[in-house]
Amino acid sequence: MRNLIAPRWKSIVKKTGLHTNNLLPCGKCGSKRLYFFDDPLCPTCDKLTIIPTTDALAIINHFINTYQKTFLEEVRDFNKNELLSLVFWEREKIIRQFYTNYTPIDQQGLATCNLLLKRVIRMNDFLETRSISNRNSVVEAYRTIVLLELNLEQVEVGNRVVLRTIQYDLNKLRDLSIGDIVYCETEEYQKIKKIMEKFNVMPEEKAKKKMDAWRLKLEPIIPGSKKSNNASETLTRFFETISMWYTGLFSNKLYRSAFGLSRMEEITIKPFPLRVFATSYEAKADEATRTSYADFLQQSEKFFGKDSNQLIEHFVLSERHPEANPLFLRLGDYVLVSPHFAEFFSYVLHAILDRDIFDKEVEKKKSPIRVLLSLERHCLLSDPPMCRP
Ligand SMILES: [Zn+2]
Repeated sequence: MRNLIAPRWKSIVKKTGLHTNNLLPCGKCGSKRLYFFDDPLCPTCDKLTIIPTTDALAIINHFINTYQKTFLEEVRDFNKNELLSLVFWEREKIIRQFYTNYTPIDQQGLATCNLLLKRVIRMNDFLETRSISNRNSVVEAYRTIVLLELNLEQVEVGNRVVLRTIQYDLNKLRDLSIGDIVYCETEEYQKIKKIMEKFNVMPEEKAKKKMDAWRLKLEPIIPGSKKSNNASETLTRFFETISMWYTGLFSNKLYRSAFGLSRMEEITIKPFPLRVFATSYEAKADEATRTSYADFLQQSEKFFGKDSNQLIEHFVLSERHPEANPLFLRLGDYVLVSPHFAEFFSYVLHAILDRDIFDKEVEKKKSPIRVLLSLERHCLLSDPPMCRP
């Protein structure tokens, strides 16, 4: 949330002198302390004012609505298919960064693209008055909204609180700017994050260092499409990677709605053939791979037989199937394929659609990630407040 925090708070942090390693609560007054980035602060002694949760939620919702309205008014001028293609290609570019440069995966970027694709596919009132001029700004602008939505969820479940820097009036929220409020993580949530880091779910800065270390050791962390011949082999070889991605991509409600599968019980298609199918399409250098819908249908029938309708319903985002996971994107009589993203996501899908093999591997490896996975599975079945240990 660095970009949304008013700079003057940084100087306040420097002045507080609270950079101690004391555990909670505050040694002076007994209040529950908060973290400002890595710095613990006491709301009482540092005279910080925490906004009541109901006010905080109203304020964040106000920002979400305002930003969304502006964003949607802006993109409504575009051509729908051009917009969808752009977002689909942006997502493929994000994951190629990982495949080509070994950079940490930008989960938030991937989630932003998926959420935007799912939102735009349902919109129908496009004016098509102009083409997209600043192609980089679309996903970036929506990222701000996703960040706000993430904050809303974090405040709802009590992982974060909102502090005010100025007086606010709930009836005049238009006077409030996004820099006037500050998000703080609670100390309990910081502890959870430390646990998550043990499972390689970490902030970008730390992730970069870790990726550098891995690269030096030449560990096979990047799964290649030809390295494994079946699901068991894939799961054994890339167990840690799959577990890590799975926990990262499904760690909150918003991400689950971005990457999850609806009506999962209907899906019998397996990730391994899905990956082979998706990567049978050649990746292009500067645009998403495109094929005719007729050809796509023919190919999918060849690969999946009678299950090919599952592919269309659950993995090809279209106006007819707006609930589908956007592994592929249908735009009228053609389909866009995103080979790198499809390959990446099919690995994650092993943890979901090959659950029996995955569970065996979890037991065999006696991986500490067992704890997290059981917690995560519990989270998938319940609302986030239940997920906090
Ligand atoms: Zn205190």
